[in-house]
Amino acid sequence: MSVVSLKTERELTYMRKAGSAVARILGEMADLIQPGLATIELDKLAEARCRELGVVPAFKGYHGFPACVCVSVNEEVVHGIPSAKRTLKKGDIVGLDFGVSYEGWYGDSARTIPVGAVAKETQQLLDATSEGLKRAIEQCHEGNRIFDIGHAVQNYVEPLGYSVVREFVGHGIGRSLHEEPQIPNYGPKGKGMALKAGMVLAIEPMVNAGSHEVRVLADGWTAVTADRSLSAHFEHTVAITSKGPEILTLV
Ligand code: MG
Ligand code: MG
Repeated sequence: MSVVSLKTERELTYMRKAGSAVARILGEMADLIQPGLATIELDKLAEARCRELGVVPAFKGYHGFPACVCVSVNEEVVHGIPSAKRTLKKGDIVGLDFGVSYEGWYGDSARTIPVGAVAKETQQLLDATSEGLKRAIEQCHEGNRIFDIGHAVQNYVEPLGYSVVREFVGHGIGRSLHEEPQIPNYGPKGKGMALKAGMVLAIEPMVNAGSHEVRVLADGWTAVTADRSLSAHFEHTVAITSKGPEILTLV
């Protein structure tokens, strides 16, 4: 049986703190991105800033993941491992996926950032994925249903010629990084569990320029597009309230 926990207003105050630390550190990592940067530097910054802000990096050691932040470049979809050997180049896109806990409460967010000037088609993929997330969040009202969220993403990005990754989905979040329910980024409008105030959801569309299929590389972590087309990923942690959606992963 799947149990979806509803958060109290007091619990949300902790989740706002976790979320705002996530947003702040993600912004600092984004500011560091430039051609020539080794991706390990993003992880070093994230780890140091977690310590300074009194939050715990959520990904390091999670199922054995070796770093604080997932750094996924170009055709990498998610779960890329930062490395001293991987250097960013002008025209790349870099997905940063980052989470922390504060007093045992989690926040999770992602964004994909261009390295210098990128091709127009590349920027369009980023813009479409970010807009897909925005439209998904707009569905986070009491009485709507889980699949309304993914439907909003799919219905926006597919007519633009992109595809939505199936293998990885959004999730509930709270005392654990991943809780029920799962939130696919596709699906039929009006179906699935009803949304209730107090639910907190990490909504995270992954959108590919080519086919939706993905493969996991030999490192056991890095997911890439099967056709090696570009992929973008944006995520926010969102509370459903009686007044509508509240994004927790903002500075
Ligand atoms: Mg994430
Ligand atoms: Mg997530």
